[in-house]
Amino acid sequence: MSEKRPARQPHSGHHNLDPHLPRYAARTAGMTASEIRALFAVASRPEVVSLAGGMPNLAALPLESLSSQMAELIAKDGLTALQYGSAHGVPALREQICEVMALEEISAHPDDVVVTVGSQMGLDMVTRLFCDPGDVVIAEGPSYVGALGSFAAYQAEVVHVAMDDQGLVPEGLREALAQCRTHGKRVKFLYTIPNFHNPAGVTLAVERRAEILEICREHDVLVVEDNPYGLLGFDGQTYPALRSMDPDNVVYLGSFSKTFASGLRVGWVLAPHAVREKLVLAAESATLCPPTLNQLVVSRYLATHDWKGQIKTFGENYRERRDAILSALEQHMPPGCSWTHPDGGFYVWVTVPEGVDTKAMLPRAVTARVAYASGTGFYADGFGSRQMRLSYCYPTPERIREGVRRLAAVLESEMDL
Ligand code: PMP
Repeated sequence: MSEKRPARQPHSGHHNLDPHLPRYAARTAGMTASEIRALFAVASRPEVVSLAGGMPNLAALPLESLSSQMAELIAKDGLTALQYGSAHGVPALREQICEVMALEEISAHPDDVVVTVGSQMGLDMVTRLFCDPGDVVIAEGPSYVGALGSFAAYQAEVVHVAMDDQGLVPEGLREALAQCRTHGKRVKFLYTIPNFHNPAGVTLAVERRAEILEICREHDVLVVEDNPYGLLGFDGQTYPALRSMDPDNVVYLGSFSKTFASGLRVGWVLAPHAVREKLVLAAESATLCPPTLNQLVVSRYLATHDWKGQIKTFGENYRERRDAILSALEQHMPPGCSWTHPDGGFYVWVTVPEGVDTKAMLPRAVTARVAYASGTGFYADGFGSRQMRLSYCYPTPERIREGVRRLAAVLESEMDL
């Protein structure tokens, strides 16, 4: 038997019967179904209040005017909109993206922006560009599940660094980097979500930002800043992007998924000049080019709609839901539970008392008609069994309150066991 045969696929019993098993590349061993995706099917039953998924709430979008704009786009510009474009992205959109980023103090040249199919593609490309198997990515613990999926797909090892209510702890980062160095591990980049963190719901304190950049410089580690929620602060507050403070050492990932429409799958990467060239080549081999029609839809939307006003409206809807979840948690959760207090974004991160296992409890919660995302999915190392992520972005405030009531009752009976 060939020595190169990949490890058995851990993700599903079906694969034991999969006749293609010996053919898969070794790296597929790291591709496992995310716990959260698996949950979507059950959680989307109407009787279940789902606090599990992080679907943006699009109800406030002006569908009628979008619809006429799209029709006009096809009528006037159809032959361009329906044609291949450059792997780099539509030039007019790249210029507008620079205006969007200026809201977070980033000054960028449109040439350094690469349009992607959502920032998820940016994550995939950046990992593809930098990580060989066994290379280390430092990430907050917990971290975004989709990023962990990309890191696993390229067989990168994730080392988590703790957060507190001010975000990533600089001292923890220093220690992690020192440990990696002691063990001869190659750290490729720090992956960080500074604003309204998914799943933790915290924001990196402004005072910590320069320090974190400095530590990464000292250790010659690149920073990958993932910022899809930065404009969704509930008081209209924004923070200086890491990218604005050290443009040569930060790759920035942006997205229109949370500020406009997730289904269009339009995001971008802003990278130092040399990296940008490699990114365009990587993008070309992945997709030839991002969808021209979708890019033009976004471009036209930015040019003709009050997009900042729309973001404000989205933010108001999310704030109302955040208020509902925090007051319901305060009112119903049993003693010994704690949670974060987000001032933007979609998520609350809850810690439950010792002895409760959120993953084991989940089927009982679903029976009680409430769903959440258990904490272990947000760590690469199995940690997180006393944590859970609650997303308040999608359900109505009334449903959120009902969901938290149900969840608290399940937790209470769990704690009695
Ligand atoms: N990064 C983070 C932190 C996210 O929460 C998400 C979406 N949930 C993404 C990236 C991916 O976003 P996109 O729709 O732009 O691919």
